[in-house]
Amino acid sequence: MTLKIEPILCRQGTMNNYAYVIIDENSGVSAIVDASEADPIVQYCEQCSVIPKYIFTTHHHFDHIGGNMELKEKYGLKIVASDIEKHLIEGVDIALKSGDEFAFGESKIQIISALGHTKGHILYYFADEKVLFTGDVLFNLAIGGLFEGTPEEMFASLEKIKQFPDDVNFYPGHEYTEYGLQRLLHNPTDENMKYLQVAVRRLQQGKSVAPITLGLEKKCNPYLKIDSLKDFVRLF
Ligand code: ZN
Ligand code: FE
Repeated sequence: MTLKIEPILCRQGTMNNYAYVIIDENSGVSAIVDASEADPIVQYCEQCSVIPKYIFTTHHHFDHIGGNMELKEKYGLKIVASDIEKHLIEGVDIALKSGDEFAFGESKIQIISALGHTKGHILYYFADEKVLFTGDVLFNLAIGGLFEGTPEEMFASLEKIKQFPDDVNFYPGHEYTEYGLQRLLHNPTDENMKYLQVAVRRLQQGKSVAPITLGLEKKCNPYLKIDSLKDFVRLF
């Protein structure tokens, strides 16, 4: 693993978004995933002498792109987004389609469309490093709202995510874990208790609950545990 990932909590106390500063340690190239707001990201970058080269945007909602233009001006970076949503996001330089691959330092990123939350939502997958950025499709113990999509589309996106290897670490767009913790307590399986322990410890230390492996998430996230479309649609 040569990819360093630093979660930056943004819009703290309201939306609790995560921006992630990612650094390919072999090449020194760095980027931001979902620049929610500029200030906390700039603060981290200055502290660690990081000059990000890209912003990778998962989708067009304001809480995921609010820092884009300020950071673009400050660092001269390139904004990467889905070609389906490029008209909704100011300053996009590189528009990518599902199935595209993007070179980032010595890493390769796969672009994967995952609909349900918005019409052009994409995931960024680092296959070699086994890292998946899930934006507002998959959260810890929860999923994103259906703003521009159908339950069928969301189900298909989650099925896609379930196909990734169990040892992939995922990084969501918000810190929403606490809403799901109560439910774990009511169903004290070994996996749920393990999840609870890890989550509470990290939250108490002021850290993000991410990363959690997809293997553990599949066993504990109530939405990922549903295997039939019929049962899934019934939730909405
Ligand atoms: Zn969103
Ligand atoms: Fe969001």
